[in-house]
Amino acid sequence: MLRGKSEEEVTLIRESSLLVGKTLAEVAGMIRPGVTPLELDKRAFEFISDHDAVPGFLNYNGFPNSLCISRNEAVVHGIPDRKPLIDGDIISVDCGVLMNGYFGDSAYTFSVGEISQELQNLLETTKECLVQGIKHAVAGNRVGDIGFAVQEVAERNGYGVVRELVGHGLGKALHEPPEVPNYGRRGKGPKLVEGLVIAIEPMINLGRKEVSQLKDGWTIVTADRKPSAHFEHTIVVRSGEAEILSSFKYIEEKLKIIA
Ligand code: MG
Ligand code: MG
Repeated sequence: MLRGKSEEEVTLIRESSLLVGKTLAEVAGMIRPGVTPLELDKRAFEFISDHDAVPGFLNYNGFPNSLCISRNEAVVHGIPDRKPLIDGDIISVDCGVLMNGYFGDSAYTFSVGEISQELQNLLETTKECLVQGIKHAVAGNRVGDIGFAVQEVAERNGYGVVRELVGHGLGKALHEPPEVPNYGRRGKGPKLVEGLVIAIEPMINLGRKEVSQLKDGWTIVTADRKPSAHFEHTIVVRSGEAEILSSFKYIEEKLKIIA
C-alpha cells in the first residue's frame, strides 16, 4: 500500500516545488530566438543556488546539467546545448530542486517566437491532459484513473501518448513509488491515499507514440521526429480535489509581460 506524507513533509515539498516554478519563470523571461539552452541552464543553476537549494537533476544518474531542455522532436531528458533557439521552436523545460531534504519537480513547454497553430494546439491539449489527470488524483481513486483521463484527452485529439516514461512519487527521493503512467484503465493500479505526493507529467506527441533514445544516452525523441510536449506538476492527493504544490503562476505572469 502507498504511504501518504505528513503535513510537515508536504510543506517542505511545497517550498521546493514553488522554487521550481520560480526558476521556470526566470527561464521563461529569457526565452527568445537566439538564446541557447545552455544559457537558460546556467541561469537556472544560479537562481536555484541563490535560494540555498540544489538543482535536483544535476549529477542525477550522471545527468550533466540543472535543466532538461527538450526541443521540438525531443520528448524529455534533453541535455542543454549551444544551438540557438529558432523562431517557431517549442522547448520543454523540466526542472527539479532539492531544498531542506525534499524534492520538487515541474515542467513547462514554451514557444519560441511565433509557433504554428498546430503546435499551439499540441501545447494547449497537453496542458489540458495535465489538468484532467490532476482532477482524477483523488484519495480512493486508483493510479489508472489518472492515466485514463490523460490518455482520453490526448487520443481524442489524435495525439500519441508516450508509454516508456511516466510520472512518479517524490519526496526525499526524486523518484519514489508509484509509477504514474499517462495511459491506463479506470479503477486499476495502486489506490491513491491522502497525503500521497506525485508528479503527474503527460508527454504527448503530435504524431505516433513511439520514442527512441539518442546516442547521448539521455535525450528521448519521437520515433517519427514529430514534435512533442511535456507539462508537469507536483501534487498532493487529498480526500477532495488534489492540491497542486508546484505552480505555473510565476511562469504565466512572466509570459504575459513579454507578450
Ligand atoms: Mg520533471
Ligand atoms: Mg518528474
